[in-house]
Amino acid sequence: MKYNVTIVEFSGDYVAAVSSALASLGWNPKEGSSYLIKPNMLNSKTSDEGVTTDPGIVSALIGFLKGKGCRACVGDSPGNAYPGKARAVFEDTGMMKAVLEAGGEFLDFEGQPPVIGQINGELVASVPFSKHVLEHRIINVPKLKTHVQTVMTGAVKNLSFGCIQGASKSKLHTIGNTPEKMAKVMMDVYSYIRERVDLNLMDAIVCMDGNGPSFGRVRRVSKILASRDALALDMVAFRMAGIDPLCVPHIREGIRRGIGPTSEDEIEVIGGPLPNYEFKIPSTFLRDLSLRFGSVVKRLVPKISFDKSRCVKCGECAGICPEGAIEIVEYPVVDDSKCIRCYACYEVCEYNAVKIKQKALPL
Ligand code: SF4
Ligand code: SF4
Repeated sequence: MKYNVTIVEFSGDYVAAVSSALASLGWNPKEGSSYLIKPNMLNSKTSDEGVTTDPGIVSALIGFLKGKGCRACVGDSPGNAYPGKARAVFEDTGMMKAVLEAGGEFLDFEGQPPVIGQINGELVASVPFSKHVLEHRIINVPKLKTHVQTVMTGAVKNLSFGCIQGASKSKLHTIGNTPEKMAKVMMDVYSYIRERVDLNLMDAIVCMDGNGPSFGRVRRVSKILASRDALALDMVAFRMAGIDPLCVPHIREGIRRGIGPTSEDEIEVIGGPLPNYEFKIPSTFLRDLSLRFGSVVKRLVPKISFDKSRCVKCGECAGICPEGAIEIVEYPVVDDSKCIRCYACYEVCEYNAVKIKQKALPL
């Protein structure tokens, strides 16, 4: 089977770029359908900071859907979410304004009790989804970034973790306490949700490399990518970023399960040739290697520390920590013996107060 991924240049006109990506993919919505647009709204940092999905893409997509007589809803569950957080993140990032002005509807993922999905995966039996996720056809609008836990984040991760309600994500970090187990957790959830996904449209306009997904280096790539298949889209996007897709655990796991392309040869890239942006890989990549090559590498795996001058003592890092390794003693303190280096605390801190301490490599 051949998978298609389209890639278009973004030169400032969102409507033209989104229309062009969808036309070259040959995708049209089913007239009169109700769609859930699922951006990546990790926290209150904007798309120009390389963190959240560009509201301009979502706005253009809403216009496209409404032009075809469809209902366009938009929702997401931010990191370590609690009631009210999704609304605040949408407002802080300008997403709420873009959605409402384009005639879309905001759906609050944290507003109602979750619906338990019996996913019967290899590691995860059931998860609490936002009820909106299970009531709509989904258009996935991820952001292309590096990620200290998963090397890269894109289409598959946006569907797997972002569809789960509230702080339950923390429990999945406990189950996924190694890179390979985290990939299995992601693929367990993704396998359940993928049949509901009609389209994946990736924001690769302002991206992030290094220690993403919040405080890496901002990279302007100026591309929009689209595909019907999330795994195929990730493989092409990661290759464009200069990262071999096989270095990313969830790609290896997807290939093992056969839920998408089993190699890049099965993907046709429309709008190529593919550029190479040579993204800087996260320093935490050593964590993956330590599990393969043992204690010598393990000693070099970066540890967590806290910058008191930035910390506002909100406690979100302690709340997300799957091992209970963080205690707030006026400021947060980590118990290294409990820490599994999942870096969820780094991901969730909006104040750049969680630091990843890289040891110098021996020459
Ligand atoms: S380190 Fe960050 S998340 Fe943790 S308490 Fe301080 S500001 Fe909050
Ligand atoms: S302290 Fe941070 S890196 Fe360590 S287990 Fe807790 S959340 Fe993960």
